[in-house]
Amino acid sequence: MRRRASDVVVVGGGPVGLAAAIYAVTSGLSVIVLEPRQGAIDKACGEGLMPGGLRALATLGVNPVGWDLVGIRYVCGGRHAEADFSAGLGRGVRRTELHTALQSAATAAGVKVLPLAACEVVQSSEEVLVRTQQPGRTAGPDERDAVAHRGHPDHLRHQRASQGRS
Ligand SMILES: Cc1cc2nc3c(=O)[nH]c(=O)nc-3n(C[C@H](O)[C@H](O)[C@H](O)COP(=O)(O)OP(=O)(O)OC[C@H]3O[C@@H](n4cnc5c(N)ncnc54)[C@H](O)[C@@H]3O)c2cc1C
Repeated sequence: MRRRASDVVVVGGGPVGLAAAIYAVTSGLSVIVLEPRQGAIDKACGEGLMPGGLRALATLGVNPVGWDLVGIRYVCGGRHAEADFSAGLGRGVRRTELHTALQSAATAAGVKVLPLAACEVVQSSEEVLVRTQQPGRTAGPDERDAVAHRGHPDHLRHQRASQGRS
């Protein structure tokens, strides 16, 4: 069995997984993302980023192309409710554009994305072992690949201790 070691293993390279991976790698941790689907992943989505979401993306160095949104309107039958945003603009962004922008930022930051699915997580006092599977396989774990996470890395433990956290 081949093992790849990393401080952090993120299961799923959607927006949340990639954002978490960028945060972790820019905090000095080594990160592996497991995502069996390739390319810019599309899915059902209203494609609206709120002002707070845009600000969070900017802290990650992600600035997806789109159209300014000044507010939001909910419509149901003949009724509607609407309001302007009170804290800046939102943005209408194609889901694939958002995903591509996050993937580019993650790659530029040094995140490794492996085209594998997680199929089992085994935790011990020493490590968290994530057993993986090639995309499209439905049988048991793939014996050729596994990813290990060796608990709290020493430099993070020291950093947290100096900040009075355990
Ligand atoms: C109809 C609809 C409209 C929406 N509209 C908006 C909107 O306008 N604005 C907005 O901000 N949000 C919207 N959302 C919410 C938004 O889509 C989610 O919050 C967002 O997709 C969550 O991101 P995620 O990375 O957690 O999950 P996902 O985007 O679902 O990504 C999960 C990833 O994990 C991977 N994965 C799954 N299992 C495994 C495994 N075993 N191993 C490895 N990888 C795995 C999948 O391939 C996938 O790529 C909408 C959602 C829906 C359903």
